[in-house]
Amino acid sequence: MCIRKNAYIVQGDWLNFTEMTRENHTKTSLIRVALDVPLSTLFDYSVSDAMQLEIGQRVVVPFGRKEVVGIALEWATQSELASSRIKSVLRVLDDVPPLPQELLTLLRFCSDYYHYPLGMVALSALPARLRDAAPFTAKQALTYRLSSAGEVLDLATLPKRRVVQRRILQTLRLGPGSGAQLRELSASAPAALKALLEAGWVEVCAPSARSAHVFQDAHALTDEQQQAVDAVTRQSGYGCFLLHGITGSGKTEVYVHLMHEMLRPRPELGRRGGGQVLLLVPEINLTPQLEHYFRSRFPDVELVSLHSGLAEGERAQNWLKAQSGAARIVLGTRLAVFTPLPELNLILVDEEHDASFKQQDGLRYSARDVAIFRANQRGVPIVLGSATPSLESWHNAQSGRYRLLQLTQRAVQPATLPVVRCLDVTQLPVQEGLSEPLLAAIESRLQRREQSLIFLNRRGYAPVLMCTACGWLSECKHCAGKLVLHRKDRSLRCHHCGFQQRVPQACPTCGDADLKPVGLGTQRMEEALQARFPAARILRVDRDSTRSKGAWNAMRKQIHDGEADILIGTQMLAKGHDFPNLTLVGVVSPDGALYSADFRAAEKLFAQLTQVGGRAGRADKAGEVIVQTAFPNHPLFQALRAHDYASWAQTLLAERRMAGFPPFVYQALLSAEGKQESEPYRFLQQARAAALALGMPVEVYGVVPAAMPKRANHHRAQLLVQSEQRKLLQEFLRVWKPLLDALPASKVRWVLDIDPLEF
Ligand code: ADP
Ligand code: ZN
Ligand code: ZN
Repeated sequence: MCIRKNAYIVQGDWLNFTEMTRENHTKTSLIRVALDVPLSTLFDYSVSDAMQLEIGQRVVVPFGRKEVVGIALEWATQSELASSRIKSVLRVLDDVPPLPQELLTLLRFCSDYYHYPLGMVALSALPARLRDAAPFTAKQALTYRLSSAGEVLDLATLPKRRVVQRRILQTLRLGPGSGAQLRELSASAPAALKALLEAGWVEVCAPSARSAHVFQDAHALTDEQQQAVDAVTRQSGYGCFLLHGITGSGKTEVYVHLMHEMLRPRPELGRRGGGQVLLLVPEINLTPQLEHYFRSRFPDVELVSLHSGLAEGERAQNWLKAQSGAARIVLGTRLAVFTPLPELNLILVDEEHDASFKQQDGLRYSARDVAIFRANQRGVPIVLGSATPSLESWHNAQSGRYRLLQLTQRAVQPATLPVVRCLDVTQLPVQEGLSEPLLAAIESRLQRREQSLIFLNRRGYAPVLMCTACGWLSECKHCAGKLVLHRKDRSLRCHHCGFQQRVPQACPTCGDADLKPVGLGTQRMEEALQARFPAARILRVDRDSTRSKGAWNAMRKQIHDGEADILIGTQMLAKGHDFPNLTLVGVVSPDGALYSADFRAAEKLFAQLTQVGGRAGRADKAGEVIVQTAFPNHPLFQALRAHDYASWAQTLLAERRMAGFPPFVYQALLSAEGKQESEPYRFLQQARAAALALGMPVEVYGVVPAAMPKRANHHRAQLLVQSEQRKLLQEFLRVWKPLLDALPASKVRWVLDIDPLEF
């Protein structure tokens, strides 16, 4: 075993990490291997002469009593281990090509920047199937499309009961589809597909020679869209663009045109073949729709998606298609940022402000930030798109580090932005969370057969149950949180640790039977609206109602087909969906974020409300947003009414600058938890003392309880370190982290989170 020194030096800023030239190694028989173990080291193994081994290949090695898969990272001439203790590589896995050097560099960067063991970074970047020692055999994944007979087939002539066949044909009308995509449609899709193939209506797409591609040019771009496309395509080398476009301004169309430009050969730029484009999206739920959409625009281009919802084999297969260069468009959630892409020449990050890009366990990376590093490393442009950019990105655009591209108009004429109205709930009677003007607005939509959406970001029936006699509250005995009342199954549930119990008949403290639900969740809202509008078809969309596989897809279809009048939804409904018949959005209880301890809460709320408001009036019908609040004059709501992201961002940035918060400082958060309350505090105090003793120019705060001080029987505390310069913070962390590793910590679990979003 041998401790590796940092292979990188920092030059000014983390985006300029440069690789130090490594000495040229003559090939010897010692290899350093990355393993999935929590140690910041590589492991030395010997390689027999007969073994063909290349850097980046997966190997099977003995580790302790086990055999594990690792990645060969570098040749070595000597080891700190006595030669008698060096074991040999058992097998080289040559089922897939070695990981390219570029990806290995990216993984090293992540390990350095996030101060996370390289082996764990490297192995977690691989699809799970490739972490397995059993060789991977790629199955031929087929893509299906309508035959010419299928294209002219009148669906009405199909017997009614062939529902699944009909669904497959409808899906393929939109463009070719993968077997996996079609299997999503129904459990009996394989049988139906077989029947359609036999009938000659569907055929297997031949893998074409993809040198050229057909591009379905659906819209003439608006001037603003064209300018955005031109700015990016003119860029040679790295450049980070922030595409700030209001909801419905046609950012997706900009992506499509950019892909078109980047996928075709451009001899004038020295590119004879086509390129590859990586599009990152925050939500797995959005990928099927987008996949479909991009397939229909690029019917001849191989596109794969990568997200955790795929079966292991399929994910490995898609990954390999990307690595071989066969897949030209790669669409994925944050993990896709680690896909090997030999021809990559553009990265797109949609909804770049979305917190889902930050992984909250293991390697706590921000896929957006890693994507920026990657674009810089490779020397290609990257576009971050959003209607409400993160303050970090906006600040970078203001300072000129990113280039700002703006879409200020909705793309479809005459669609305009919705009118936003605030109702002052201190002046209005409110029943079950609903005021009369909001109810009247819903009523008028019902009469006009238009849809309404009530946005309430709290699932369950009521956030807490209370005893009216003694004031007892339903608290989780394992957490510092309340048990949420779920009426349907008469349970009290903790949304933090999953604990649940039956609703008690009487107060556990005083025995009184008068237990009252306090506050409002989506289930209660559903009940209240149903009572008020008995004939309305109400659809609740939250994590509870969409738990079963396919449920969310089915609901989305219901909404599109006009089979729902009122939607009640959490943030699941806010993101990226286009419901043309939706003309009213009601926001019923947004104020919590205005006095939250989380300094990002207001930023998040504005983004959410802009998103959810953006669902209203997307097509030919005008939209309206009604917000019930006790603070109608709060700058957030003023900006929301004026659709003025820029002034809102300016307000927030001024506050952040004053208070010394990001993006004006860079933070690292050390969190610890333990069963005994004293343990995490003791650990963090020692960590703090070690930090102070270093005397480095960073601010070290005091040890404080976490925002959720107890969760699942673990007491939680944290320690914040920050600096106005990323470089100084990184220099500090580089010295501090080994000290942390050396602290006694048998009774605590601790993590270091760089650029934390959650506290
Ligand atoms: P965003 O992602 O910015 O919210 P979308 O890309 O979803 O917006 O576009 C909103 C709508 O505008 C879509 O229905 C899209 O087809 C349409 N659209 C986009 N660009 C144009 C254009 N140049 N001309 C006409 N319609 C367009
Ligand atoms: Zn009581
Ligand atoms: Zn709990």
